[in-house]
Amino acid sequence: MANLALLRRRSREAITPEVRVAPDRAEGETQLLGASREELAACLAAAGVPDAQIKMRVAQLWHWLYIRGVDDYGAMANVAAPVRAALADRFPIGSAEMVDEQISTDGTRKWLLRFPARGPGAPVEVETVYIPEENRGTLCVSSQVGCTLNCTFCHTGTQRLVRNLTAHEIVEQVVFARRRLGDFAGGPGASGGPATGRMVSNIVLMGMGEPLYNFDHVKAAMAVASDGDGLSLSKRRITLSTSGVVPMIERVGREMGVMLAISLHAVRDEVRDVLVPLNKKYPIAELMDACRAYPGLSNARRITFEYVMLKGVNDSLADARALVELIRGIPAKINLIPFNSWPGSPYECSDWETIEDFADIVNRAGYASPVRTPRGQDILAACGQLRSESKKLSARERRAAEPA
Ligand code: SAH
Ligand code: SF4
Repeated sequence: MANLALLRRRSREAITPEVRVAPDRAEGETQLLGASREELAACLAAAGVPDAQIKMRVAQLWHWLYIRGVDDYGAMANVAAPVRAALADRFPIGSAEMVDEQISTDGTRKWLLRFPARGPGAPVEVETVYIPEENRGTLCVSSQVGCTLNCTFCHTGTQRLVRNLTAHEIVEQVVFARRRLGDFAGGPGASGGPATGRMVSNIVLMGMGEPLYNFDHVKAAMAVASDGDGLSLSKRRITLSTSGVVPMIERVGREMGVMLAISLHAVRDEVRDVLVPLNKKYPIAELMDACRAYPGLSNARRITFEYVMLKGVNDSLADARALVELIRGIPAKINLIPFNSWPGSPYECSDWETIEDFADIVNRAGYASPVRTPRGQDILAACGQLRSESKKLSARERRAAEPA
């Protein structure tokens, strides 16, 4: 526990900023990827398409964007050439540029994607990670550049929030990955991938950022990702992970209908206050109440509680017993995550023996508790290791970056 006192002091200094970052959807230009059908209809109208054709054209665009995954208007064979030209003049399909791709020895891939500036900011970079397994392929998607919260064990938490990602940028991470993996109709991916027949069968909102501080964009993006005529990811295969933004949890179930994961990590407020400083605002008891009230909760739709194993901090057998008491009555899975260290991180991962003993107690209480195998550690792609070089610009830097 020696480092806990030090960290408690540090976490007091970095008290959770109560920042609700406003959506910035209105800023910058519209891209087709990530737009709703209504927004696509508005793009078509702006490009001069007559009202009577709009519904048909929306369906055509949706097919090219999300079934065929094209990145070029030229490929949209059944869209009349003048319509394509008018759209191409006004609306780019996407805006991501791949800056880097790393492939781990275990097949995990990490991409660094750059998106252009929105409003007066600078271009931003985010990381997206693909984790192939035998029976699924999971894409770990970022929702923000950096994070306003300062969980003391998380690398992203050391990067200040630069900005929210737009719905477009969240969807484009999915479309980019599927293109890159040959996962669209006619692509090569289907034969070499997981047994689901799709390279990307699952999405987890567990990349950079706190998705519930970017609710509107995340919600719009997941509506596109789960649309049955397009990317068609089942809502049961989309998991949103939150550090515990209590007032937004009910809306996740009611408005998004995706699976919920809670970054719990501690069973006592004095420990969780340090690990997840947001706990000072929304303590454990309130978080548990929100979980019990989660719309749609059932044995078939359980909440996943994530618990990072930190040596000497939260990994005692008493903690394990308190954990099962805490979640009693909630249909739940517990995901034990061996701590992934990063340069300068203040914690160590629990010993394997300790993790196994901890998992035993949880299992014996009747909860599935898979220990998450660290993936992509050699390329710093594992949970909590993501961090980009994007920086928040000061007002002076922003003025200097603006065109004269
Ligand atoms: N902001 C959201 C989602 C992103 S983090 C959240 O906090 O839930 C995804 C998961 O990785 C969270 O459970 C987070 O607590 C965990 N995590 C963060 N840093 C980690 C690290 N260094 N090792 C292991 N897991 C970590
Ligand atoms: Fe942000 Fe989640 Fe990292 Fe906490 S664990 S700093 S909420 S990304």
